[in-house]
Amino acid sequence: PKTPKPLKFEFSIISMDRYKILKTLGDGTYGSVVKAINKQSNEEVAIKKMKKKFYSWEECMALREIKSLRKLNQINIVKLKEVIRVNDDLYFVFEFMEQNIYHLMKDRREDFPESQIKSIMYQTLLGLANMHKHGFFHRDLKPENLLVKGDAVKIADFGLAREIRSKPPFTDYVSTRWYRAPEILLRSTNYNSPVDIFACGAMMAELYMLRPLFPGNNETDQIYKTCAVLGSPTQTQWPDGYKLASKMGFTFPKFVPTPLSQLIPNASEQAIDFMMRMLSFDPQKRITAAQALKHPWFDGWTSNPA
Ligand code: ADP
Ligand code: MG
Repeated sequence: PKTPKPLKFEFSIISMDRYKILKTLGDGTYGSVVKAINKQSNEEVAIKKMKKKFYSWEECMALREIKSLRKLNQINIVKLKEVIRVNDDLYFVFEFMEQNIYHLMKDRREDFPESQIKSIMYQTLLGLANMHKHGFFHRDLKPENLLVKGDAVKIADFGLAREIRSKPPFTDYVSTRWYRAPEILLRSTNYNSPVDIFACGAMMAELYMLRPLFPGNNETDQIYKTCAVLGSPTQTQWPDGYKLASKMGFTFPKFVPTPLSQLIPNASEQAIDFMMRMLSFDPQKRITAAQALKHPWFDGWTSNPA
């Protein structure tokens, strides 16, 4: 594999005059995103304006979104084209994508064909494998943060990304509950890249079911819903989970597993096996992104529409 070229940045204190803003695409926790067009090249872009004010370049450069994205250059990771600071406001200019996976699932009645689910998962895992290899993990994978353009899928929103080697404890975790790995729910402070794989498992199930697999109403309910599907873990299955649970005075509810094949009758046997490997309770036993790409479910699958 080629070593990715470092991203070029134009750290310019210029005005935003070069772009014509067309419409609002999203309004999130950290910023708002608009669709715009580059007046000179006619290229469509998405511009994310950070809510926070930035008074120096040093402050901007310390942002996780910049630290991680400037080092990642892979076709399934959304491209950061430039970073602009004007009047203490910070703007990220990204390649434009049509919609996100949440949009794709919302209001859909008909099952996605297995080939489409495979394509989405393959591309997501290619992006993730690259990210993990370069020492970052995302921490907030969810349908809204996977962007789509035609058949192409790209991972976006690196606001919570961490360096794999950065020092725990991680206590500032705020990601979306429904895709949260059990070790995070049990307040592990040294979780790592396997949390992204658990989120992939939950998303893949959702692509089949067209509703979330673990729609927890709060953190405890989230653990309950996870155990209600996967069955309560045994101590041999996940020794560290028992240590975490006892530390916080939590007792696993007693649930027998509900077979995924029963919950997701439209998934093939190999797809079920694959999801179960991503949804392993023990992060050490969970399949890695690189291994996932070699799972038999992907046999013969090499296309990357991005
Ligand atoms: P937040 O931290 O607010 O969640 P995101 O980077 O996830 O920020 O962007 C919020 C939403 O804006 C996304 O869910 C997506 O719908 C839209 N969006 C973000 N980046 C792009 C892009 N490059 N192209 C098109 N839409 C985008
Ligand atoms: Mg987001």
